[in-house]
Amino acid sequence: MTKIPKSHPRYASLITREQVIEGVKTGLTSIQGLIAQGRGEAFDYLLGERTTTSADKATKVAAAMLLLARQPVLSVNGNVAALVPKEMVTLSNELKAPLEVNLFHRTEERVTKISKLLRDFGAEKVLGETQDTILPGLDHSRSKATRGGILNADVVLIPLEDGDRCEVLVKMAKKVIAIDLNPLSRTARMATLTIVDNIVRATPNLIASVRELSGSSTDKLQDVLLGYNNNFILQQAIEEIRKNLDRQIETPVQLEFDNNLF
Ligand code: ATP
Repeated sequence: MTKIPKSHPRYASLITREQVIEGVKTGLTSIQGLIAQGRGEAFDYLLGERTTTSADKATKVAAAMLLLARQPVLSVNGNVAALVPKEMVTLSNELKAPLEVNLFHRTEERVTKISKLLRDFGAEKVLGETQDTILPGLDHSRSKATRGGILNADVVLIPLEDGDRCEVLVKMAKKVIAIDLNPLSRTARMATLTIVDNIVRATPNLIASVRELSGSSTDKLQDVLLGYNNNFILQQAIEEIRKNLDRQIETPVQLEFDNNLF
């Protein structure tokens, strides 16, 4: 991995980029995953590379939705495996929810590698190696799913999913929780609930919320869900971007001249 100095002003973002590159090199992530990461980075830049108040609230709602679920499933793709494998395993173990390896550009080799990585981190149940059914309405390569996994889940967490698959899951009457930095993506707009945040920040935050809320009564969890509206969450994310852009323009970069350089 390229060494990034800790003093670099955009250290966290560059480390994340390096992790995805490493994922491609080790065969966890597809080459297309680099482009997805680039698009995510652009939106993260606009958001100010921080968890916004609205994303934080959405994360709490997501935790309550997952805790109320009868059969939750957490989807893992190549970017997720490169960035937050350990955190996804922790989340899965906390919720007693299986992980399902769910790849857009599926190869058996990548599925095996990702499944092994998750098991090495202590995952109790990893699905997806033998996808035995299809999601209706998608072309063959993108439609694969697992009975007892995403097919039968009532709540599915889909970090970085493609819009078509998100739409199909919603049409199947599932509650779909997306983690997506782009509030305008089809996934973000189709999902039941979207956390507009970087997965590297959203996942630890989600684990903390699940731990905080677990043990709460059903009534209390339902109270957390009360009044949330995905469209409003996306509007707030766009508003956060707008405010951040205004702040950037209002505070021009100040350069101090170094006399030693003349
Ligand atoms: P859609 O079909 O939903 O419109 P898309 O074609 O815009 O999706 P893809 O290339 O399929 O997008 O997937 C990448 C999505 O994942 C983008 O919306 C991007 O913002 C998001 N993304 C990429 N990296 C991250 C990350 N680290 N954290 C959260 N979201 C990310």
